Amino acid sequence: MAHIILFGPPGCGKGTQAKKLTAITKYNFVCMALGDLLRKQISENAVHKATIEQYIRKGQLVPDSLSFEVVEDFIQKQAAGVSFLFDGFPRNIPQAIFLDNLLAQYKTQIEAAIFLEVEKKYLLERLQSRAVKEGRLDDQDLHTIQTRMELYEQETLPIANYYERMNKLYKVDGMRASDQVTETIEGIINGLK
Ligand code: AMP
Repeated sequence: MAHIILFGPPGCGKGTQAKKLTAITKYNFVCMALGDLLRKQISENAVHKATIEQYIRKGQLVPDSLSFEVVEDFIQKQAAGVSFLFDGFPRNIPQAIFLDNLLAQYKTQIEAAIFLEVEKKYLLERLQSRAVKEGRLDDQDLHTIQTRMELYEQETLPIANYYERMNKLYKVDGMRASDQVTETIEGIINGLK
């Protein structure tokens, strides 16, 4: 049972990597992509639909109280002993602390935080191509993209230090071909005790 976090700037390819790793049966990962879960809340007309929609549209982080509810609910519903692959959560220090505390209740912990590094100048290109492929509204507006980039630098980047201090940080060059990135991540996972 190894719980992994994938993080990096918007457009770094963490969603693609999460899907590929989840498809590798030997890992038996349950993927928790908070962005997907939040979009699901919107499509299912959940109680907090309007609030969530408002934050996603603006490219802002949904308030922690709300994310925590969604994450806790998701984790509680999974079978005991599964390995989680976290995609897009945590995205700030309070979320990282929350996740550590939540996993500790199940006597388990994060084993590796995989940081997909992509140079800023390529991110916009990637997001624009995803906007065409997936039609996500938050990829279509430059102002929203800008907000997400700024929030990433201010809020999410500090989690790299958080995991580095625990010797759990693994940096991966996310600029290479997608399959090479997957291979590197697999090497990291295979090397975990
Ligand atoms: P993503 O699909 O990971 O690109 O996330 C899309 C949007 O969902 C983000 O821009 C935020 O508005 C929201 N979101 C995703 N993950 C989080 C998180 N960890 N904390 C708060 N909001 C989030």
